[in-house]
Amino acid sequence: MSVVRGLLDKYGLAPKKGFGQNFLVNAAVPQRIAACSRSYAPGDRPAGVLEIGPGVGALTQYLAREYDRVVSVEIDRGLIPLLGEALVDYPNVSVVEADFMELDLPSFLSERFGDLLAEGGTVSVCANLPYYITTPVIMKLVEGFPSNEPLPFAAFTVMVQLEVARRLAAEAGSADYGSISASLALRCRTEKLFDVGPGNFLPAPKVSSAVVGIVPHGGIREVYPDAPEDPEELGSFAERVSGLISLAFGQRRKTLVNALSARYPKDATAAALEACGLRADIRGERLSAEDFCRVAAALA
Ligand code: SAM
Repeated sequence: MSVVRGLLDKYGLAPKKGFGQNFLVNAAVPQRIAACSRSYAPGDRPAGVLEIGPGVGALTQYLAREYDRVVSVEIDRGLIPLLGEALVDYPNVSVVEADFMELDLPSFLSERFGDLLAEGGTVSVCANLPYYITTPVIMKLVEGFPSNEPLPFAAFTVMVQLEVARRLAAEAGSADYGSISASLALRCRTEKLFDVGPGNFLPAPKVSSAVVGIVPHGGIREVYPDAPEDPEELGSFAERVSGLISLAFGQRRKTLVNALSARYPKDATAAALEACGLRADIRGERLSAEDFCRVAAALA
């Protein structure tokens, strides 16, 4: 707490609510997040990590000890000189002043990590995410890459609001299951790792937080091996599945037959559900990512 306060005071700064700045002040937490993040990447290959929002560098310095290369993207111009001082002992860290949401992620990845990937290395993402853009950041990481290929990351280890963590990792049919749980499951396996109380931050947020590990798997054909093999057809299939998920959760209290009726005739959906062995009055919130794939294939 005193180190973070001291750094902010020295640069005449205060945490900015608009940028979702809740800085970690208990060193044990970022140390644990960095270790969890590194454990997802193979130990025998060069490893890089992309950090979103380094703040005053609390997590960055532990990432620098775990990884060969750290690239940290910070939106707040005022923090850049402070980070220069806080990270002076870590030559493997570069700080980029940018809005993560504005980055062209595939180009950024190849610019910053292309050489490391070419050597057979891996890139992970690790962040204590600003809560105002948690879901858009995760969707950008997942949807910013072609849907017919596995994602080019070892894992995303991110701290989010506890209720968001539950949603990300939720199983079909549970109260926390939603559109993002199903969409994420099409490309990744998600596990909730540990909870972090408000007292670990400056300022203390009103809500509890949790760290999740999101690990990309082989993609949609891992979830549904009967998905088309041809890359182009697989891309269109993935889009149809995503379309079904949005329709199903856009009106989650309706039965799937009614929720999809704007795009698919009711008798076609009913026939597809029957072909998949699912009840005619089922709601989308009970369908797993695999079920959505099966229904999309049956509807086709
Ligand atoms: N990593 C630090 C820590 O754990 O103490 C800071 C975490 S704080 C919750 C979120 C950080 O993300 C802040 O430094 C904030 O300025 C930065 N941030 C917010 N929006 C951003 C964006 N769109 N792109 C990049 N960084 C952003």
